[in-house]
Amino acid sequence: MKRLLPLLIFFTFPPLTLLAQELPQGYFASPLKGDIGLSATFAECRIGHFHGGLDMRTGGAVDRPVYAVADGYISRVSISPWGGGKILYIRHPNSYTSVYMHLNGFAGETGRLVREEQYSQQSFSIVKDFNEGQLPVRKGQLVAYSGNTGGSGGPHLHFELRKTNTGHTINPLRFGLPYHDSMKPTIRGLKIYTINNKQTIDVTDNNTLTVNSPFYIGVYATDAAEGSTPKNGTDHIEVLLDGDLFFLYTTESFNLDSSRVVNALVDYPLFAAKRQAYILTRALPGAEGDWIPVRQGDGIFRLAPGTTHKIQIRAYDIKDNYTERTLTVTMSNNGIAASDFNTMESGDYVDYTHAVTIRRPAFSAEMPAYTLYANDLMHCAFKEDSRYYSPLCTIEPSINAIPPHQHYKLNLRGKIPTGISTGNVTLVRIDGKRVVAYKTTYSDGIFSASVRDFGTFALTCDTVPPKVSLTNYKEGKPLKARVLKIKISDDLAGIETYNCYLNGSWILAEYDAKSATLFIDTQGKLRAGQNELRVEVADGCGNLTRRTFTISR
Ligand SMILES: [Zn+2]
Repeated sequence: MKRLLPLLIFFTFPPLTLLAQELPQGYFASPLKGDIGLSATFAECRIGHFHGGLDMRTGGAVDRPVYAVADGYISRVSISPWGGGKILYIRHPNSYTSVYMHLNGFAGETGRLVREEQYSQQSFSIVKDFNEGQLPVRKGQLVAYSGNTGGSGGPHLHFELRKTNTGHTINPLRFGLPYHDSMKPTIRGLKIYTINNKQTIDVTDNNTLTVNSPFYIGVYATDAAEGSTPKNGTDHIEVLLDGDLFFLYTTESFNLDSSRVVNALVDYPLFAAKRQAYILTRALPGAEGDWIPVRQGDGIFRLAPGTTHKIQIRAYDIKDNYTERTLTVTMSNNGIAASDFNTMESGDYVDYTHAVTIRRPAFSAEMPAYTLYANDLMHCAFKEDSRYYSPLCTIEPSINAIPPHQHYKLNLRGKIPTGISTGNVTLVRIDGKRVVAYKTTYSDGIFSASVRDFGTFALTCDTVPPKVSLTNYKEGKPLKARVLKIKISDDLAGIETYNCYLNGSWILAEYDAKSATLFIDTQGKLRAGQNELRVEVADGCGNLTRRTFTISR
């Protein structure tokens, strides 16, 4: 890492490559038997976060045994229909915690305790902490079964190694897990973004070009490995200017709490549209976090007029295989100086380090400090639309089209038709054909929601209760399947609560949000003859559906 020394380092964090040497090598085993194949690498860019661990392939199937990666004790189990689904945490005595997500189930005593907790709380979703001594585990002990629960896009095991006291997640492959990768990364795209006239130049095919403005570079690279899927993330990216390191993007470790800054490190509009993560060399001052790229200055190339320079772009995988592209860039003599704001842009000026409230007759937006990543001009617009109880209110930044870093409060005024209760009114964002509802509160003629998006908002109502239907059972016939499936859906506000009662007693129904299905394991629960199953599902506006089915055994 000698090359780092002459650089102006923006933020004071030690070069993270030093970290690898301090990590215990060989202490942790793989949580799965056999060679490690990945369907996603550590710190891959996702919308709104970096991927916090490894996605380990499980051969397209669920219920593969998952083993404790080292001695320790099970410290927590959490279950949710979203996100990581069924999650197991093991705390190890060497200050690390291993985390296993999207599980199908928990082995032995853990499974029994989890079920007991669900019945005691009468809830599928739980978070349960365990003390040291309650559920000790040995390295290699069966602890769970892999699955596809929560927001998983196919069967796999999501595996993390976190520093227990700080919540930092670290690439598990840095601990010497057995992993083969002899295949070089692929640089799939390079873009040059000019500052003055905001041009984006695709340099995928040409290696020699002339620019007339300061610029920054975007790099889109992926990596493949033996047994892995072909478009996983790279480990690090270097950009060199005339042989000196200009930009270094590393992915060894990051704090899970600040991972939303990913939106500001990539070309966000392109990423949102095409899921191609062009990592940008330019810095936005509010996107620091504690895991940040290292740059010269603000990551903008300011080359002297009439000069020609060599720019090398290298994408590395974790085994240091790399691919390089070399550009020859000439700054023309009539280069234009960069200005912060284009004269065409207008709006409310926001200093991102200060809290600000943007007020218009129909709405206000109360943005805390650091909602944006840089100073910007907020653009507001209104349009009457008879389908809604308020005008369509648009609020978005003019300069950096990136979602807010944190929640802000949006307040809308509207005309609510007589007969509609304010409790059924909901604030929504209109995103093309998609309408997204927010948890909405009402006070003094104003409807408010905490939102973490920019875009077009309006008021509407949800008076339609959720739909509930049995999908694998016809009433009047004996039940053949062990697991009863119930489809539940809501048109707008979304499912808020779901409870099932068999012959009057609460029964566990596992909710899978992505398939909109409740699963009830009936084994040992049904009595001979007829059983009454009551299903109660409510949406976020309090509309309740209560249906009773007769199940015959
Ligand atoms: Zn994952």
